[in-house]
Parts: sequence; structure tokens; C-alpha cells
Amino acid sequence: MNDNTSDSNRTLLGSDAFTFACNDTISCFTRCCRNADMFLYPYDIIRLKQHLGLTSEEFLINHTITAFRDTPNFPSVMLKMRDREGQPCPFLTETGCTVYEDRPFSCRAYPLEPAIYDNGEGGFAITNFLVRHDHCLGHGQGEKWTARQWMKDQNMDAYTAPNGAWAKVASLLHSLKPAGKKGKDNPAMNMAYMASYNMDTFRRFVFESSFLQKFDVAGERLDMVRENDVALMFLGFDWILRFLGGQGPLQAK
Ligand code: SF4
Ligand code: SF4
Repeated sequence: MNDNTSDSNRTLLGSDAFTFACNDTISCFTRCCRNADMFLYPYDIIRLKQHLGLTSEEFLINHTITAFRDTPNFPSVMLKMRDREGQPCPFLTETGCTVYEDRPFSCRAYPLEPAIYDNGEGGFAITNFLVRHDHCLGHGQGEKWTARQWMKDQNMDAYTAPNGAWAKVASLLHSLKPAGKKGKDNPAMNMAYMASYNMDTFRRFVFESSFLQKFDVAGERLDMVRENDVALMFLGFDWILRFLGGQGPLQAK
């Protein structure tokens, strides 16, 4: 999570420990929940839209903006701050975060910035950076943590597989230079955007288009995909790798 108004520095943490506390007794409590430049990843959107009881389409329209950031031809999705003084997060109240159990990955990780990548052996490796913002007074307070201990404390393990798989897709999207328009104005990028972020629309596409006539999806996987947004998200990732990169486990019939 980046704050738009203050300086920050970012250092490689590696196996070092850091001292940090974040709670409602610290005077900067919720300062980081304002005017934040916060990327949302596909799994974040599933957790948040389910928490809020919204469709993915409603969530994307009401709570996100898109911008070309890390990937020049594919839009990043970011949380839309409220258009009022201080630009607070839409989920912030006087007592704190109203979506705490399903808060986005970058809210959990702070002050870490984990870079998750494929380890080439079917698993994932994580490199952690430590970020300091001027406004954050939690540094140097409370307990000492290793990155592993912090990630466990913040219940981040559930995010490793989804974000690791997404990192592979994002890397492909980053490398592509599609002809013609970019972003959602490009038909191929628009399909990849749907399969990444808009699970309700992608589910209709899987079951109501010729998708299943073209791609070999095992019966048990289809049963999961019908009911489960996370299973559907992984199918979406496999489809993007196949139709844009000619790679990955999803096979054409
Ligand atoms: S300590 Fe840092 S992370 Fe915690 S509320 Fe304050 S600014 Fe936010
Ligand atoms: S989702 Fe919660 S923790 Fe994250 S910025 Fe918003 S209010 Fe803060």
C-alpha cells in the first residue's frame, strides 16, 4: 500500500527481523487507510465482493479504478478511495476497518511488501521488502518479527497460491505487446481482464459460450468452478496462459 502524500523507503528484508506494532493505541491509527494507492489482486476482489455480498461487476464498478501501472498494456485494478476530505478508504469507519477479515493483501502485509514468484518446482518463493512511510509510527514499537512470523500473524498463507499463480499471469501480460488498442479497449486484453477480475461474468462465459467445446476441463474441476469463485479464478488464469501465451495446463480439445 502506498500513500500518495508522504515519502517512503523500501529495503530488502531477507531473513532479518523488524520491530513493529500496529493497533488502535498508536496515534497514527488508520492514517494508512487514507489516500492510499492500493493495488487489488484477483483473490482480493473475490474475498471483498463475497464479504460485501456484491457481484464482481458491482464491486468493480463501485469500489475500483483502473490505471496502467506495472503492466503497460493491461490495467491494474486499484481500490477507489472516497471522494471526500482526506480520501479515506470506503471500508474505513471511526473504529477501524469494516472488512478486516477480508482486507486486501497489501493491508495485511504492511509494512512488508512481499514479491511472490514461481520457484520453478511447482511451488512459490517469496522475497520480502520492508517499507517505511513517514506517517507510520509503528516502526520500532512492539515485538520483533521475521517476515514468516508476520505473515502467519496476518493470516496471509491463504494468499500465497492465488497471488503466486497471478504473478505468473501478470508476468505474461507484462511481456505482451498487443496490436491495436491497449487495456479493455483491446478485445484480447478485455477477455483477460474479465477472466482475472470479474468472476460472475467469467462464469457465464465458461458455461454459456463455446468455451467448454474448445477446452478440456475435467468434470470434477467443472463442478468446483460452477460453485467456487477461487476455483474459477484458477481456471481463468490457466485460460489466459493458454490463449495469450500458448502455455500452461489447460488443453484445447
Ligand atoms: S502503525 Fe502504520 S500501519 Fe498501523 S495504523 Fe499506523 S500508519 Fe497504519
Ligand atoms: S481495507 Fe481496511 S485496512 Fe485496508 S485500507 Fe481499507 S480500511 Fe484500511
